[in-house]
Order: sequence, then structure tokens, then C-alpha cells
Amino acid sequence: MPKNAAIEQEDGYGLQISPPNRDRLNSVINPSSPPSGLFIAGEWVETRERIPVLQKYTGETLGTIAAAGPDHLESAVAAARKAFPAFARMPAHQRSAILEKASLLLRAHQEPMAKWIAMETGKALKFARLEAERAADTFHLSSQEACRIHGETLPMDAVRSGEGLLGFWQRKPLGVIAAITPFNFPLNLVSHKVAPALAAGNTVVLKPSEVTPYSAAFLCRILEEAGLPAGCLNLVHGAGSAIGSALVEHRGTDMITFTGSAAVGKAILARAGIKRTTLELGNASPVVIAEDADLRRAAAKCALGANYCSGQVCISTQRIYAEAKIAEAFMELLLEETARLKVGDPLDEVTDVGPMISEREATRVAAWIGEAKMDGARVRHGEERKGAVHYPTVLDRVKPGMKVVDEEVFGPVVSVIPCRDFPEALRQADDSRYALQASVFTRDIERAFRAISDLGFGGIIINDTPHMRPDHIPYGGNRQSGLGREGPRFAIEEMTRIQMIQFRTAYPN
Ligand code: NAP
Repeated sequence: MPKNAAIEQEDGYGLQISPPNRDRLNSVINPSSPPSGLFIAGEWVETRERIPVLQKYTGETLGTIAAAGPDHLESAVAAARKAFPAFARMPAHQRSAILEKASLLLRAHQEPMAKWIAMETGKALKFARLEAERAADTFHLSSQEACRIHGETLPMDAVRSGEGLLGFWQRKPLGVIAAITPFNFPLNLVSHKVAPALAAGNTVVLKPSEVTPYSAAFLCRILEEAGLPAGCLNLVHGAGSAIGSALVEHRGTDMITFTGSAAVGKAILARAGIKRTTLELGNASPVVIAEDADLRRAAAKCALGANYCSGQVCISTQRIYAEAKIAEAFMELLLEETARLKVGDPLDEVTDVGPMISEREATRVAAWIGEAKMDGARVRHGEERKGAVHYPTVLDRVKPGMKVVDEEVFGPVVSVIPCRDFPEALRQADDSRYALQASVFTRDIERAFRAISDLGFGGIIINDTPHMRPDHIPYGGNRQSGLGREGPRFAIEEMTRIQMIQFRTAYPN
């Protein structure tokens, strides 16, 4: 049977897979057991050195994965280099078809993928389902963008030196892309690098987080089944400080695309050399609540925005600046909404908030709260911790200089800060070395436009929290939040180079 004959597309999003074909697909993708090897030159490679992968809520071992050594990295980069020329020449419609098949396969396996995401991250299953769905969207969008990569002709005679020339520019793939990804969205953030890179005709060496490697491994299997030629996507597992660092310094790659912490991003930039580098880093996301806002709706949104994925989202609601007149009323509603969140086993359908990625991280968050309290902060809700589970926590009486205000908490902690008036709230919200996304709740159009003008963030959201990221938007930060933009169309711009062509058509006197 030819590959993918099992998938029949019903419409843009619908899928019809007959039971025998579903069995065949399941035996190929094997959703009950993720691949444990490295994926190099189209082969799954096991190694003697193993890395255990934990179920983050129970602490049980889900399995082990192969750790890559320097030789494996060499083979992965060599495979990507070898595959690049033919893949760059593959017609766009063929690359697009492979990505669309991958999108359909992701949709067909949304439920098992979501379960693996929930187990390896600790994220609540209902949100893991959203991530799996979004990854399918990211591949679908990238499939479409693969057929839209184009340049333009230039009016060469705009200057005297251009007379007699026909000029146009086009976009070419860069070559081998080194992709390094974090633990918190182990499928969709990998997809945001792999899908646009392939759409543009690049090949990839991927190093996912070693604590959440299975989603990336499944994705390799899915792309294999979708017909991606061997060597176009290579997967290496291992610690960032070893294999990640070696990948960054490898001279056989043409670009580094990194998502993770600002500290690691800075270290990567310092060692990357003259190589295109995009960085998607952290944030200490602010929300401004104007006195005219719908407070009940804003409080419900903020409670979820602060605790979604246990606050381990780069655009998690962390600092809430509320106009003084409504600050306490808003706080009461926020406390009510936060108390409604169900904390527990991420595989339980009712759970909103699961464990953090590790007990060490939960302990760090507790320590930051402790330091803030010593400095005058007050806990209005939460604060408990049981192992890796940190309960949603609301603070007030915080001030600049405290880590919970200045740094990225990356945990389920939010602070409410009363401000004299709306301009002062905007000023404090903007006063951060991070600038990824910020949001404002207001029903006043003038306030909304004032916020858009005053806030120097990569993205501004009106009447929702900063964690809004539909997958096709240009997404990325300013200041210490990063360099470059993602979202398939924009990632493709970063992952291609412009080539200019000039034809002499006449010889002016
Ligand atoms: P991290 O510690 O910076 O790690 C990210 C990736 O980099 C992991 O694969 C890690 O490997 C690897 N790494 C670590 N040290 C390295 C080095 N010296 N050289 C090369 N690679 C190295 O981040 P994380 O804890 O996984 O994720 C949380 C951070 O990601 C937060 O700051 C969050 O804001 C940020 N984030 C940003 C976005 C965005 O789009 N802006 C989205 C999600 C997350 P190992 O962990 O396997 O050792």
C-alpha cells in the first residue's frame, strides 16, 4: 500500500479513517509506545547511555531514551547536510503535501499525543489536547506557507545606476537548521521550528528538552510516515549543557532557532558565531486592569492565565496592575476565580492545574514567595506545595526589586499591584527588561489605543490575557525576550535568505 493511502481528507479539517486503515496507521505510529532512539538519516538509533523520562505527577519512570554522544551529533549534522540539496530542490507543492499529511496524522492521533504530553510535562490533559490540536494547525499553516514563499521584481530604473536592468529577488532556504526547544510545549514549540524549516526547504537537527522528549520523537515518526525523505529531520537527545551546546557550536549548521530561558539564550548568542540566530525567551507578563473593565471577566481570564500549565508558559499572567479605585474589588474576584481551579492529577478530566516540571522547580517558586514575604509581600491565596505540585498563589504588597516582580516566575504565582491611574499602570507594566506580550482590560477605546502606543512589547492583547497565541500570528519579543519572530510565515522569513538577481537588458548611453 502506498504511504498515506490510509488518510482520506474530507474537508479542510475533517478526517475519515476506516477501521482497518486506523489499525494500520496505529501500528506504524504506535501511539502506545513512543520511539526511544535517536533519529538520524531516517534510522532509529539506540545508544547504551540512557536518560530516564518521568511521569511528572506520579514520579514513575515512563521509559528511557537514548543519549546522543559527539559521534551521533556528527552523524546527525552530516545527514542533514547530505539531505539538504535534494530537499531544497523538491517542488514546493511536494513539501507542502508532506506537511499537510503530517498535520492530518497529528489530528488522527490527537488523543494519544495529548496523553503523552500530559504525562511528560504534567500539563492538564484538557490543555494537552489543545496543544496537540495546535501542533496539527502549525503543520497545516506551514504546509500552506510552503507554496507562498516568493520575492518580487524591483523598479530598477528608480535610480540612474539601475537603468537597463531587470531586477528581482527570491528567497532561498538557509541550509541546516539547529532547533533547540524547551519542556513546556514539547509538541507545538517543536512544530513551530520543524514545520516552517521544512516548508522552506531546509533540513533540521532537533534537540528537544531531555525531560520531555517523547512528543518530539512521535513527531519524527509521524513525519517519517508522511513521506519526509531520510536525513531531512534528525533528532538528538541529551543535556543542553552537553549536546545542546555542541550543536550550537557546530560549524555544519546554518542557523540556530532556540526557545527557552533568557540565560541560556544569552549563552547561545555568545557562542553561535556568525550564524543566523533566533531566540524566543521569557517574559514577566503584565496585565493592566482599567477602572472601566469588565472585572468579573478579567478576573476569570487572569486566574486561568496565571495558572495554565502551572504558570510555566512564557506568556503566563504574572504582574497585574489595577487602577486603585477597582484594585480591591478586582482582587476579591480574582481570589474567587483562583479558588475554583482544580489542582491534581493531570490525567483527570476535571484537573486545571497539574504539577510543575519537577519538585526542584516547585521548591524554587516557594523560595521566591518566601523571599517576597520577608520583604513585605502578602499572600492572599495559596502558597502550599506538595512535591512538584505548587498551588495557585496570589500576592499583593509586592514591589520592584522582588524576584516575583522583576524576574520570570515561571510558576503559578500572580501579584496584584494597585496604581494611581491608568497611565501609571501602563508605565509600571512597561518597566521590565522583558517585552514579549502584555495585555489590557478596558472598554474604553482611547485607553486601548494609549496602551498600544505606550507598551513596547512584541504583542499587545486587549481584553484577554497575554497568553493568547493563535499559531499564525507574528510572535516574539523585544528587549531580553528575544530576537526574531515565529509563526509559520514569519519563521520562514527568518529561515530563508534573500538572493538578488540583476539582468542587463539594455546598455544605456
Ligand atoms: P531552558 O532551560 O533554557 O532550556 C531550553 C532548551 O535549551 C532545552 O532543550 C535545554 O536542554 C537546552 N539548553 C540548556 N542549556 C543549553 C546550552 N548551554 N546550550 C544549548 N542548549 C541548552 O528552558 P526551559 O526550562 O526548558 O523552558 C523554560 C523557558 O523557556 C522559560 O524561560 C520560558 O519563558 C521560555 N519559553 C519561551 C517561549 C517563547 O516562545 N518565547 C516559549 C516557551 C518557553 P535540557 O533542558 O534538555 O538540558
